[in-house]
Parts: sequence; C-alpha cells; structure tokens
Amino acid sequence: MTKQKEYEYIIIGAGVAGCSTAYFLSKYSKSILLIDKNENVSAGASGAAGAFLSPLLGKPNKFKDLISTALRFSTSFYKELNTESFKNEGVCRIPKNDDYREKFESYKPFMDFEYKILEDGYFFEVGSWVNPSEICDLLTQKINKKLNYNIDSIKRKDNIWILNDEIKTKNLILCTGANTKLIKEKYFDIRAVWGQKIDVLTSTNVKFNYHKECSVSKAVKTQKDNIYKVFIGATHHRFDSKEAYTQDIINEDSLKLIDLANDIIKLKDVNIIDIKLGARASSTDYFPMVGSLIDSKKSFEKFPHLINGTHIKDDMLEKIENLYVINGVGGRGFVLSPYLANELVENIINNKKIAETITTCRLFKRWAKKQKNK
Ligand SMILES: Cc1cc2nc3c(=O)[nH]c(=O)nc-3n(C[C@H](O)[C@H](O)[C@H](O)COP(=O)(O)OP(=O)(O)OC[C@H]3O[C@@H](n4cnc5c(N)ncnc54)[C@H](O)[C@@H]3O)c2cc1C
Repeated sequence: MTKQKEYEYIIIGAGVAGCSTAYFLSKYSKSILLIDKNENVSAGASGAAGAFLSPLLGKPNKFKDLISTALRFSTSFYKELNTESFKNEGVCRIPKNDDYREKFESYKPFMDFEYKILEDGYFFEVGSWVNPSEICDLLTQKINKKLNYNIDSIKRKDNIWILNDEIKTKNLILCTGANTKLIKEKYFDIRAVWGQKIDVLTSTNVKFNYHKECSVSKAVKTQKDNIYKVFIGATHHRFDSKEAYTQDIINEDSLKLIDLANDIIKLKDVNIIDIKLGARASSTDYFPMVGSLIDSKKSFEKFPHLINGTHIKDDMLEKIENLYVINGVGGRGFVLSPYLANELVENIINNKKIAETITTCRLFKRWAKKQKNK
C-alpha cells in the first residue's frame, strides 16, 4: 500500500478568503492543498460578487477603521499583482436621499480617503473593481488544488487532522463562507445574506464606478462598437437556503437592479446577459472571525465563571489546536480577505497577534454569558 500523503496545511474553501490565505501561506510552505466542492475556484459567493472596493463613509468607529485599513492593504496588494483583473478607476458615491446628503456632509471631517465633489456625489480615487474569478485563479495558480471534492467530516487523531477519513494535514484552515457545517461550535453564528448581481450589455458608456443604492461598474468595451458590458449589484435577502430563491424573485431583483442603476445613470438598450446568486457570510456583529477556534467545552471546564461574564484574557482561553478560520467577511469579502489572510498567516507562522475586534474570542465570550439563563 502506498503511504498516504500528509500536508502541512489544508485550506477548505476556494473563495477569495481561501485563495488569499493560500497565496500568503505559499510564501512560507510548499505543502499546501486547497480544497473546494465546486469544479472551479471562486464558485461560491466570490463568483457572484461585483466585486467593488469602495471606502466606508461615516463617523469614526472600529468597523470603519477595519474597513479603511483593509481597503488600503488590499488595494496596494491587488496593484502589486499587476493584473488587468484589477481596475483602480475610482468610484462616485452618491447619497441616496436628502437625509443621506446631510449625513455625507457630516462625514466630511472623517473621510479616510481623498475625494472630490463630482456630479451629484463624492468621487474617491481609491475605488476599484476586481474580476473575482480571474483574481482567485491568479492567487492560486501555483497552489496544489483538489476541486470537485466535498469535505463531509473532519476528525483529529494523534495531532493530525483527517478529512473524509482519507486526507491528512497538520494544520487545517476553514474558509467555507456561509456553509459552516464543519464547525460544531455554537458561538460560531454565521448567517447567510443572499444576493444577486447582473451583467448587462448597454449602449451607454459609463465613465467610472458608481455607488448609490446599488453599484454600477465602469463600462467595459466589447467587440461591438458602442456596446458595453456593465455589472450591477447587488440585492439582499435573508433566506435560509437557496431553495427560497424562486425564479420570480430572481426576475424581480433583476428589474429592481436595473431601476436602481437607472436612478444613477440612464442605461440605454439594456440586455441582461448574466445573473449570479451567492450567499454572503455575515457574523452577528458584522465583524469577521479570524484565527484559532475557541474550544468552548474545554474553556468552560477551565473557567466555569465565564458564564458570569468574568473577564478572562483571550490568550488564556482553550483553542482547538491547529484549526483556523477566516469567515464573516459579509458584503466586503474582496476588501477584507487579502488583509485578513495576511494577518492570519502572520499569526500562524510568526505568532503576530490578531486584533481583538476580529478574533473568534469576542463572539465566544458574548455567547458564553448568554448560557447562564439557558
Ligand atoms: C451578489 C453579491 C455581490 C457582492 N458584491 C461584493 C462587492 O462588490 N465587493 C465585495 O468586496 N464583496 C462583495 N460581495 C461579498 C463577497 O462576495 C463575499 O464576502 C466573499 O466572496 C466571501 O468569500 P469567502 O471565500 O468567505 O466565501 P465563498 O466565496 O462563498 O467561498 C467558500 C467556498 O467554500 C466551499 N466549501 C464550503 N464548504 C465546503 C466543504 N464542506 N467542502 C468543500 N468545499 C466547501 C464553497 O464551495 C465555496 O467555494 C458580494 C456578494 C454577493 C453574493
């Protein structure tokens, strides 16, 4: 019998989170396997995304700080890839009504990125767009992959993770997006926010990306004169499963997206050529979850007073050994993932501390307190 190969790292999930993780990890290890149940990378939410990169506007808060930090990191990361699949051509942000116009005014002292007043809104040069499948392909072109392969079980034996009773790895990284079946921890509460994006042909030459109530991309030339491709996204539905997505809802959403786009810029001779659906993975507090998974059973055994809200330092909580996650990147996966993947890899390899706001600890502690009344 041939000896089964054992990997140093296996990443489950080849969306932008898993592909970014594989990319940064490959600087340190040659023994990586990227697994996905789909035939191609970027076939989950990542394949449905716009995928626009745009600043978050608002008064200072921790979430805005995270998005701005990630946007800076990811924009220069995509630029360094030197690829046509990343287009940094700016975004015009238009307030959706008078209330928002007032809000935007009040945000002016707190803008994290340069802007100028343009048309009916604010133009940010940092705004950009990536081709999701091309970027995921590029990030993983040198990575060993096993596609079209669903992981049903993960087990731990003799300090090794065994997947589907046949593939072994020392370290396991779960980047499975809205599908969290492999994670048995109850505090790991990820909710799916389904959404739709459409690609259209139009005779209108949209000059740059816009965002109002939806995003409209800059026009991409086609082989036909005066016919351009434009991407419009996205809608939001809290469905429990894809089955809830009826053809009627898809049709209504397509019309709604075209209406919202026309409210920004009148698109002439519109013809829908592609519709994509995907489930964004959203955590209960909208911050992502990155790093080791807390072992709730062992942590409770060690610190029974956790249930009373007693403060325990994050480092003291029991972690599931050599199991890591990146999840909860919500509607900003292409902004967050390269930044978070780099943070995770630096944590695993060089022990760099992960910021408290994005660890799994915060949700574990919140959940632990709630167990008292149960
Ligand atoms: C319509 C729409 C528009 C969007 N627009 C934008 C945008 O403009 N800008 C932006 O930044 N973000 C946008 N997003 C959000 C972005 O797409 C997501 O945040 C991002 O794609 C999530 O990446 P992920 O890698 O976490 O998840 P996914 O891309 O869903 O990847 C998870 C992968 O794990 C695989 N998997 C799960 N379980 C298993 C298993 N047991 N075995 C094997 N494989 C498994 C799945 O097949 C999947 O490929 C949009 C999302 C949608 C739906």
